[in-house]
Amino acid sequence: MSDSVRIWYVSGQRLCNFRCTYCVSINDYAKSNAADWPPEDQARFEKIVDWIADRPFRVGVRLATLGEPFASRPFLSKAAQLSTRPNTDFVELVTNGSLLKRRLEQLDREGDISRISLWVTYHPTEIPLQRFIANARFAQERYGCFVVVNGLLFPDNEQQIVDLKQAAEDAGLRFNLDLGYDPLTPHGVHTELQAMVPILREREEDGVARAVRLGVHPELLDLNMAAMRDLRGQLCSAGHNYFYIGIRGDVYRCSRYQALDKDRIGNVLDDGFDLQLSREPWTACGAGFGCGNKEDYLHLRRRGPVDGPLPPSLGWVDRDPPAAAARTRRGDDPGALAHVVSAEPSGRTEETR
Ligand code: SF4
Repeated sequence: MSDSVRIWYVSGQRLCNFRCTYCVSINDYAKSNAADWPPEDQARFEKIVDWIADRPFRVGVRLATLGEPFASRPFLSKAAQLSTRPNTDFVELVTNGSLLKRRLEQLDREGDISRISLWVTYHPTEIPLQRFIANARFAQERYGCFVVVNGLLFPDNEQQIVDLKQAAEDAGLRFNLDLGYDPLTPHGVHTELQAMVPILREREEDGVARAVRLGVHPELLDLNMAAMRDLRGQLCSAGHNYFYIGIRGDVYRCSRYQALDKDRIGNVLDDGFDLQLSREPWTACGAGFGCGNKEDYLHLRRRGPVDGPLPPSLGWVDRDPPAAAARTRRGDDPGALAHVVSAEPSGRTEETR
């Protein structure tokens, strides 16, 4: 058993205040602009979080949603509760950033906000850049949250990405750029990366060069493309120090195994469920191809050695804090950062399409 296990749990929380045209939460798992979640989904969520909180090992959790987590006070209450557990290293929330100034106070009041990590994705049609950056900065500087500002690259938004990167740098915020996905791509089949990723649909080399020039991490892009195309002979630590939990509580080695319904480990909600993770740090991947979510493919051994403590995120890989984060303090108090990182798109799953 690894010292600390990372968990990616996609919950059924649905309410969202944005209407992005490319949203990956569609069909049976669509977000809603009107309602949060049916009572049975909320009850399931609460039980699953309680189960995570009771693990006899340290956990770092990306607590993902179909909607906007800060639109749901019941969701935030449970996230806050998880953040206070002694075995919780961090709770990462994937957010559009619009409600941070209003709702972070709840996490501070009910939880341990020093363990809250925020993956804040910019949706330029829904929020002005200035307000978006101010909110992310507020989370980092007022509360000491670990904050990553994230952009999604599509063929027609280059200038918006350039502006976002500059604004993030000016504000001392971590900046990440992911490839935007087409939410209508068929799932669970051998999907070509070019079909899934609009930026790669023209000449792939051009799309790759453009993505890297604008800020996509080159080694991770290479890893992403290789993991999509061919996993034969690849070793992976998923199922050992990382696993995936779906909306209904099903546990799989990773989200790709869930999409393929391959080797389900069990269900958190079943009486007597006994989680058995692999004792071997590296085991062969049996998916064949199609590992397209960063939360998953970062566990491939071909990524190379990862020394020292990991950042409190399932999407961020750099160890160095941004310049401003290193000097910002909660409440302007020149004390220590809540998240001093010595040191990893809310991805698409069967349940977020
Ligand atoms: S390589 Fe990807 S699909 Fe294969 S086990 Fe690892 S995370 Fe899962």
